[in-house]
Amino acid sequence: MEAVFPTYARWELEIVKAEGTKVYDQNGKEYLDFIAGIAVCNLGHRPQVVQKALEEQLNKVWHVSNLFQSSLQVEVAKLLTDNSVGDLVFFCNSGAEANEAAIKVARKHTQKSKIITFKQSFHGRTFATMSATGQEKIHTGFGPLLEEFVYLPYNDENELEKAMGDDVAAIMVEVIQGEGGVHPGEYIFLQKCEQLCKKYGALFIVDEVQTGIGRTGKAFAYEHAEISPDVITVAKGLGSGFPVGAMIGKKFLGETFSAGVHGSTFGGNPLAMAAAKATITEIFNSKFLQDVQEKGDYFLDQLTNGLKNIGNVRAIRGKGLLLGIEWSEGATEIITELRTHGLLVLTAGPNVIRLLPPLIVTKEEIDIAVNLIKDVLLKKAAAIK
Ligand SMILES: *Cc1c(COP(=O)(O)O)cnc(C)c1O
Repeated sequence: MEAVFPTYARWELEIVKAEGTKVYDQNGKEYLDFIAGIAVCNLGHRPQVVQKALEEQLNKVWHVSNLFQSSLQVEVAKLLTDNSVGDLVFFCNSGAEANEAAIKVARKHTQKSKIITFKQSFHGRTFATMSATGQEKIHTGFGPLLEEFVYLPYNDENELEKAMGDDVAAIMVEVIQGEGGVHPGEYIFLQKCEQLCKKYGALFIVDEVQTGIGRTGKAFAYEHAEISPDVITVAKGLGSGFPVGAMIGKKFLGETFSAGVHGSTFGGNPLAMAAAKATITEIFNSKFLQDVQEKGDYFLDQLTNGLKNIGNVRAIRGKGLLLGIEWSEGATEIITELRTHGLLVLTAGPNVIRLLPPLIVTKEEIDIAVNLIKDVLLKKAAAIK
């Protein structure tokens, strides 16, 4: 990777072709892809409905700027708000930008500055979202962070209750901590976040950049916890690989984000909107989502049964098709080994194996993955002893 900043620890592998749940490297080797671009390719690679929508849009208009009306933006916004508790959408290009918008709207709306986030969270790499992220290793070397972020232990209602007060602008929380190790938020904890925000006039922001767009078997993962956030941020799965992000907010925030207050040159770009519209039209369908739930439950069951006698497996957790296996040691070698056997998975933190198959995965493919994982973990466990 000459002439490219070495900001990523890349594998010695280039994907040159992809279709559905399969990808192919430069040597023609086939892989079952349980990374899906890190929860991006929820309909698999190059889904035909999205490809067709993009091809059609390519022949109409690529970009005009937000000086103009956009019926495509309205259509995508309606799909997002009809399927969530939100009423208004701000379009941007990434998860970090969606969270930036959320942080800005929270401060402007409440005229307060303190924002509560959680340890091991991940909210992005821009200055504000890095500051929101509760992980020291992500802050190191960048000097003074944006002020007034407070990092509390995740799933700890008592600590939250103690820290909450009139000076808080927002609580920002992942429904399942993805990058931080696939830790699901307890429903009672997430409900507590909402109650305390109501009580103290703070905004309740859920970061659904990884968990949203059908990943957990609901359009948005917050639905499982029966909560009603003021702001929902999405990105990863929204455009099937076409870069697009969105902040969805309740109606009362419309006065805060008024003309000239916030913006993005590319936000709501027609190609991105065509990709997003085709993607969520397919995913926000009760039959599709039901199917994701069933496959997620099946995957979790198969893993729980298949790995139950391997002592080095510390936990298996997650929801829908966002699952993690906590290993007793570093998980990097396991991931490398699985790759040589044709299965792509990634880590979440140092010792969690994260599984993010495309939502169109079949039970047969889940079986293949479970068997491979079992074989590799049995071998590794034997080597540890
Ligand atoms: C990936 C991720 C982000 C950052 O998204 P980018 O598109 O990389 O900026 C933010 N929050 C969560 C929960 C994520 O998983």
